[in-house]
Amino acid sequence: MTTQLPPDLPHRRTPVADARALIVAALTPLPTESVALADLAGRVVGAPVIAPHDLPRHANSAMDGYAVAADTPSPWPLSAHILAGDDPAPLVPGTAAAIATGGVVPEGADAVIPLERVEEADAVVTALAPVAPGAHIRPVGADAHAGDVVIAAGQRLTPLAASAISGLGLTAVQCARRPRVVVLTTGDELVPPGQPLRRGQIHESNSILVAATLAAAGCEIVRTGGVPDTAEATRRAFADAIADADLVVSTGGVSVGPRDHVKPALRDLGVDELFWRIATQPGQPVWCGVAADGTLVAGLPGNPLSCLVGLHLLLIPAVRALTGAAPEPQTIRAELAAPISQLPERLRAIPMRLVDGRLEQLGASLSHQLSRAAQATALALIPTGDGELPAGTVVDAVPLG
Ligand code: AMP
Ligand code: MG
Repeated sequence: MTTQLPPDLPHRRTPVADARALIVAALTPLPTESVALADLAGRVVGAPVIAPHDLPRHANSAMDGYAVAADTPSPWPLSAHILAGDDPAPLVPGTAAAIATGGVVPEGADAVIPLERVEEADAVVTALAPVAPGAHIRPVGADAHAGDVVIAAGQRLTPLAASAISGLGLTAVQCARRPRVVVLTTGDELVPPGQPLRRGQIHESNSILVAATLAAAGCEIVRTGGVPDTAEATRRAFADAIADADLVVSTGGVSVGPRDHVKPALRDLGVDELFWRIATQPGQPVWCGVAADGTLVAGLPGNPLSCLVGLHLLLIPAVRALTGAAPEPQTIRAELAAPISQLPERLRAIPMRLVDGRLEQLGASLSHQLSRAAQATALALIPTGDGELPAGTVVDAVPLG
């Protein structure tokens, strides 16, 4: 066998931030659609969500207790009972009204005394402590004022944010359409899980990684499928995928070996190259381009932990940009539990386990060590340099969902 040096070496490697910027500049944000409350969690809002009225709408009690006018002397005769949801009559001057949490404070009352700070006997209420005006009352607009922006455009909705929209009384909100994704895996050695392996074969694992990661990032996975290692099958699979998706992600077959058909297929299909190879370790062989219809096509490397790097550092940001959210990776800061060496020109991206705010190495620094990485909860980002970062160094890390 002759070993031929690939024609495009020595490499030009694009720093990750530059690669991300190229992707973001090439993408057109997806159109918005109306999304009903029950489906809002995980979606990105397309226009600011505005409070239609003050919240609370009416001053109400923060406690179970008694509503009084603070400047009238205790004891007070008990004159009314107010429950949450009642529309109470004005307070009879000089009296107290029993009031439940959330009950509307009657006109004429300006304070609530909690149950435990009074004595009630024979329908007379006696204060056991001084009463300050405004005490235990939730004023009108204390949560939001009419016209306030409660949720900014581009915010990804947590279940809490979706419930806040519900609390505003809205039934639907304009959100970016979910990016449609087709996932292609290449490699004639791959066998679906559940099937026996012949010598040399391995069980396929990238499609679940890519699909689950991008689904969690808010995408609709149109399909995943395996592609045989031939030029024709690769070209056909990409052509179909580009027609059906906003984002096509393949794994494997992107290098420069005789079975690596991804780049030639994409060039044949007229997909414009944005970059080839990123300055990371692992994860360097990534090809990214944009098809004539605007579809983003990413050829990720086949090794699972290499694939992970492109997914988190490039494709989740791409998905965020497609939906109008800020594209920067959502990182945390945490300290290294053990020293780790840097690389002079490449960002290292190593799966680690976050325990009590410290990043523990798992021995999963090589790109095929998927089982070792199974305990990882974060992708630690080791900045370029020529030394070793000591234990305790604080680095960025991307949480692994
Ligand atoms: P490639 O980039 O096609 O040369 O693949 C690099 C390495 O990743 C090889 O060892 C492949 O067998 C492995 N690999 C490629 N695709 C997958 C996949 N979908 N699941 C698991 N391993 C894969
Ligand atoms: Mg391959």
